Amino acid sequence: MGNWEKSLKSVEPYVPGEQPSFTDMIKLNTNENPYPPAPGVKKLLREIDTDMLRRYPKVDSEELAKGLAEEYGTDFRNVFVGVGSDDVLGTAFLTFFKGKKVPILFPDVTYSFYPVWARLYDIPFETPALDENFRLVKEDYYKPNGGVVIANPNAPTSIAEPVSVIEDIVKHNPDSVVIVDEAYVDFGGETALGLVGKYDNVLVVRTFSKSRSMAGLRIGFAIGSPKLIAFMTAIKNCYNSYTMNTLSILCGAECLKDRAYFKESVDRIVNTREKAVKGLEELGFKVLDSSANFLFATHKSVKAREIFNKLKEKHIFVRYFAKPRIDNYLRITVGTDAEMEKLCAALKEILG
Ligand SMILES: *Cc1c(COP(=O)(O)O)cnc(C)c1O
Repeated sequence: MGNWEKSLKSVEPYVPGEQPSFTDMIKLNTNENPYPPAPGVKKLLREIDTDMLRRYPKVDSEELAKGLAEEYGTDFRNVFVGVGSDDVLGTAFLTFFKGKKVPILFPDVTYSFYPVWARLYDIPFETPALDENFRLVKEDYYKPNGGVVIANPNAPTSIAEPVSVIEDIVKHNPDSVVIVDEAYVDFGGETALGLVGKYDNVLVVRTFSKSRSMAGLRIGFAIGSPKLIAFMTAIKNCYNSYTMNTLSILCGAECLKDRAYFKESVDRIVNTREKAVKGLEELGFKVLDSSANFLFATHKSVKAREIFNKLKEKHIFVRYFAKPRIDNYLRITVGTDAEMEKLCAALKEILG
């Protein structure tokens, strides 16, 4: 081994759910939306003048950031746009947490990308345990810290905390940036957007990947005080001025215009979710109270890992995490009614 290799830091990357490509598969493992993006997006892509692609995109993602400001009743200067919310969150960790001596805090059971960014940027972190029902213990966030990150609704538990709990944590942390990851909020939770005008240290992060059916275009955004956004923008411009590509900027802006389609597809998923909960319960699963587009379920007698593997043999993909506290749970994305019915039929066979 050459010396160059010895001096490198070894990193532990995030492991996303697999993207298999069987034609007959039912893919319920990465919380993608089963419905297509708004029809206007298809039209835009069909009619786009490719000559514009010679140019660099707008450095401030103008059309998209302005569309978001309008949609969420805020100002352009309160909006940061990134390549999926993973890029937005990564930039926020780099901007607000790198160099902290006191640990940042996030729950023991939450989005598994948080510890990956913390390790990447040498940010110390602590993970206060959720209670026995996977609920947030707000008092754990009252102590001195380098920052706080809360996914609400949480992943992979699907549980939402009331915004009063988030506000309480914010009130106890005037000296830290508090990030609220709202990847799933459109499916049920209470948003913390109302806190942004009241506290200049709250950053709400959202994505187009789930509720807006655009995981493939990689669009995420944050809404926060102009001060927070300016710091993030400066850091982004230290590594890549043009993170957002022209097609994502235009398609994202186009998608925001169709509120009726958005509401309809979210409502459909919520409706299917409630039916799927009943179906799973009838099969002997305990399903946590979901405010997201996925279910977190454990079976009363059969091990989650076994069910996961048997579903996979049938080309039905769900997510299993071999991690403390959750290694007997399955995370199941809510697909179409037909997909959930097929899932339940397959489970019935597997469970005998
Ligand atoms: C899916 C997800 C994200 C990232 O989504 P992007 O596709 O990068 O926008 C962020 N946080 C949570 C909790 C998620 O589940």
